[in-house]
Amino acid sequence: MVRKVVLYPMPVLRVKCRPITEVTDKHRTLAADMLETMREHHGVGLAAPQVAVEEQITVIDVSHNPQCVSFFKYNGQDADMVQHMPIVCLNPRIELGKDKVTDEEGCLSMPDLRGQVRRSATVKVTFQNLEGETVTIESDGLLARAFQHEIDHLNGILFIDRLSAAAKIGLKRKLQRLMQEWAEDGR
Ligand SMILES: [Zn+2]
Repeated sequence: MVRKVVLYPMPVLRVKCRPITEVTDKHRTLAADMLETMREHHGVGLAAPQVAVEEQITVIDVSHNPQCVSFFKYNGQDADMVQHMPIVCLNPRIELGKDKVTDEEGCLSMPDLRGQVRRSATVKVTFQNLEGETVTIESDGLLARAFQHEIDHLNGILFIDRLSAAAKIGLKRKLQRLMQEWAEDGR
């Protein structure tokens, strides 16, 4: 089922999500719904707060572009990235590589907003899957960026928080408009 995507500045986007201690049918349904919602909106990732759930779960799928990573390791072994998509990621822990790269990002919770965000070029992410197994993925490119963006969501952090001061000023008017619309909606 496609769920409603929460839009900025709804407060749930600023919540620090709680870890999932036991995977239940509720989480399996949530993951399926999140994947459906992400695809409906042509996104490459979606985090639970974006569907108003305050738990540490995110989904990612970058298989539309097999060239978007230059390497992919699954539990320490070189693997075919496309074979391991989509990713349903519970309770992630992320290790950031030292090299940084700047690229454009957007967010389904902030339609029409884009910005250049500096992030680590490589990541190592350890998480639980829906089967309760612990998995480690190492990669770069769009997948590394998606992991960082989505895991930020689980900590109440949005990509606009990571823009340069100059870029923030550029987006100020748009952000104020979103605040205004939200206030007027009376939600
Ligand atoms: Zn986002």
